[in-house]
Amino acid sequence: MARSVGIIGAGQAGIVLGAELLRRGFAVTLYSDRTPEDYLADRGRPTACLFGEQVVHERELGLNFWEGTAPSIERIHLDLCAPDKLILFSVIASPRLPALAVDQRLKFSRGLRELAARGASVVVEKVSVERLDALAAEHDLAVVTVGHGGGPSLFARDPARSVLDRPRRNVFMVNIRDYDLAAGVGHKQLKFSFVPGVVEMFWVPFLDKDAGVCLSIVLEAVPGGAADRFTAVESADQGVDVLRGLVRDLLPWEARFLAPASATSPVTWLTGAITPTVRDPVARLPSGRHVLGLGDAVILNDPLAGQGANNATRMARFFAERLEERGDEAFGADWLASTFDQFWAYGRFVNLFSNAMLEPLAGFQRELLLAASRHPDIGTAFFDGFGDPTALFPWFAEPGAARAFLREHGVRGSDLLRYKLGVARKVIGHKIASGAAYSRA
Ligand SMILES: Cc1cc2nc3c(=O)[nH]c(=O)nc-3n(C[C@H](O)[C@H](O)[C@H](O)COP(=O)(O)OP(=O)(O)OC[C@H]3O[C@@H](n4cnc5c(N)ncnc54)[C@H](O)[C@@H]3O)c2cc1C
Repeated sequence: MARSVGIIGAGQAGIVLGAELLRRGFAVTLYSDRTPEDYLADRGRPTACLFGEQVVHERELGLNFWEGTAPSIERIHLDLCAPDKLILFSVIASPRLPALAVDQRLKFSRGLRELAARGASVVVEKVSVERLDALAAEHDLAVVTVGHGGGPSLFARDPARSVLDRPRRNVFMVNIRDYDLAAGVGHKQLKFSFVPGVVEMFWVPFLDKDAGVCLSIVLEAVPGGAADRFTAVESADQGVDVLRGLVRDLLPWEARFLAPASATSPVTWLTGAITPTVRDPVARLPSGRHVLGLGDAVILNDPLAGQGANNATRMARFFAERLEERGDEAFGADWLASTFDQFWAYGRFVNLFSNAMLEPLAGFQRELLLAASRHPDIGTAFFDGFGDPTALFPWFAEPGAARAFLREHGVRGSDLLRYKLGVARKVIGHKIASGAAYSRA
């Protein structure tokens, strides 16, 4: 008889896990607090751009319903900027594999229908802890994939693996349409605008449920800094206005591009702040039974490195493979915890990358990006890290490894010096020009 798994939560982790287990012959029951129609009528959800192998994986699972409709992200453009309205340099390169960002309302609505068509039982229910206990008894395994933000977690915080204890960014997201593509540079592909110490902004080509192809903007403001203006925003339109002001002040070359833009709908925006947290993957219920957690419910990162949905996908696949290998043996709590430890051998790099991006760029990291602005193969290596963060280690984390990496890519110390001089000249030119503008004013 097929082994039975109850999955609580039909989001990124739940849908992928369900599809994986169904193709491996498990009996799957999905417990979702929303119907497919509810998802479509819902507020906008996070951008959740998938990179690299995660796009391939959804395709292999037959969950790639929007490939061909959603914009395929084949190039990434990163502007590293100074806080006084200057692009210091740009990295423009193609990741090895395209990325894809599709409205989660479409994905989860269609995913629920699709899994039901493939034989999953779908139960529409907001599962409580008491009910979870019954579900743990009913199935060979109950897996909790309810994301974060639904109140106190069942899963205990792991203090050794949770290195941060407060949010490092205030996040704002809005989906926009009607921007002036002719006035923008790099917006047909994924664009990053980084002003270190102030803000990281992502302009993500996106398939929106209502507006179709548009841009989803994710803005990560350093608390208390010049970009931290969104916490009191109360509507999508207000958010877009605040964004226009921010762009005028910090990234004025984007002003014409953004001038005619409007939100794709009144609900496609959000604000928040996330404390990156790693939790124990197994929770004990009042009866003594246990459940497994996956996705944001146990590994929650700030969205700055765009890893949450990618990691939920990786975790779901990893656990589906291990559950199948387990054969007829019990999915005991110790076995689940040690299987999570095996995943963590990979997952820790995701967290190292996400947390590193929240810190000020170290000198050697800035040098790597500067070199990438002249050597697209280095840009490709950096952007590939979003699909597979292990590929960034050790060279994006250690100065010695960074130097060796640059040498391997044909960048000598004298080249770096030349590139830095180029940037210094640009800065001096900018200061003189803005000084002149100031004295004229
Ligand atoms: C602004 C922003 C931008 C982001 N951008 C990216 C990005 O570019 N790339 C990336 O990889 N990640 C990104 N993320 C993170 C990503 O969206 C999440 O990490 C990912 O969706 C987590 O998947 P999950 O399955 O764990 O949870 P979710 O996708 O949140 O799914 C959980 C589901 O469980 C359901 N649920 C909740 N409680 C219950 C209950 N009691 N019973 C039944 N069902 C329940 C909910 O309805 C929900 O659908 C971003 C996040 C934010 C905030």
